[in-house]
Amino acid sequence: MTDNEYILLVDDIVDNLDMLGDMLKHRGYETKIAFDGQEALEQIADNPPDLVLLDIQMPGMNGYQVCEAIKSNEQTKDIPVIFLSALSETDDVVKGFDVGGADYISKPFKFREVMARVENQLTASRQRKEIEALRDRDRQQFEALAQIKDRFLYGAAHDLKNPLTGVLLYTQLLRQTPPDDVSELENIASNIENTARKMQRLVTDIIDLAQMQVGDQMRRIDLPLQPIFESVYQTSLINAKVKDIALSIDIPEEKINYLIERSYFERMLDNLVSNAIKYTPDGGTVVLRLCDREAHYEIQVEDTGLGIPKDDIPKLFDAFFRVKKLTHKKQEGTGLGLSMVAAIVEEHNGEIFVESEEGIGSTFTIILPKDI
Ligand code: ADP
Repeated sequence: MTDNEYILLVDDIVDNLDMLGDMLKHRGYETKIAFDGQEALEQIADNPPDLVLLDIQMPGMNGYQVCEAIKSNEQTKDIPVIFLSALSETDDVVKGFDVGGADYISKPFKFREVMARVENQLTASRQRKEIEALRDRDRQQFEALAQIKDRFLYGAAHDLKNPLTGVLLYTQLLRQTPPDDVSELENIASNIENTARKMQRLVTDIIDLAQMQVGDQMRRIDLPLQPIFESVYQTSLINAKVKDIALSIDIPEEKINYLIERSYFERMLDNLVSNAIKYTPDGGTVVLRLCDREAHYEIQVEDTGLGIPKDDIPKLFDAFFRVKKLTHKKQEGTGLGLSMVAAIVEEHNGEIFVESEEGIGSTFTIILPKDI
């Protein structure tokens, strides 16, 4: 039995109601009573019970009619009804089931039989409700995923369309160019190559992200983090140098181990550091940090770059999202890097958030719980 379950008893004979009421109260059930069908339907409409015990023979509406009314109403049709029957004729029992009754109890009432049948129906009804709630949750999750998939497909098609049109235009141009104009032919060929590479990058990112979202289980192993930070730092130095950006690393000397999937983890750091360099004007600063906090490890990538408009921050980790500002758009990108980062963080049981101010810079922080 669970809290707040209540049973409506419907019978025109007070003694029957008293007896059933006593039995059920004895077992801790809450009960209400109705003396005829009309009153029962009103009470059910007002405050739907979890179970109805319904006499068949009553003046006015009989039990079958009351049951039919309960079952034909969308709001009440799932409430189980047990008939109370002085008649043990098969026909009457069958008729009770025909009109939607779940079970029957024959008079005179026997305590153990009443309890067994009542508990049986309440348990079945509880299980039905739980299954329904699970189905609802699954349906909602499925719809949400379908929406994400649709948006993703739209984004992918949209972002592939422009370079594809570009390739077709260059091909037309190629046909119209005199065969002896070698430098123009070279120029067109390299434009085709660049555009195709852009498409290749986009397709590779899409495949990687899709693979992660399908939930290909990552094999995480316990590894020291410092060498990975060092490696990302070393490979990023060259890009920083080209833009005269001071890239530094700030990691504790004491060894920190964490359960990670090495290549994804490295990619997560690399994406954040690459973005920091990419969206920071020449001469700026970028720091890659790892800190040991009490209950978690904290990773930070801090830059003195373009920053992100406040309104864009909630959309930052959506696939294909890019800040719609010329300064941002001037940088090559697919808008998939941060959604990849977010997916990797999630796979590592972590959280990511951003603090940013336009024209001042951004800090991306990842929290990795120690207790996993
Ligand atoms: P992209 O391939 O466009 O770099 P991301 O998913 O990595 O895609 O980033 C999404 C958008 O977020 C970028 O287009 C850029 O506008 C913005 N962004 C990401 N990192 C930074 C940063 N460190 N500073 C400023 N803007 C950033």
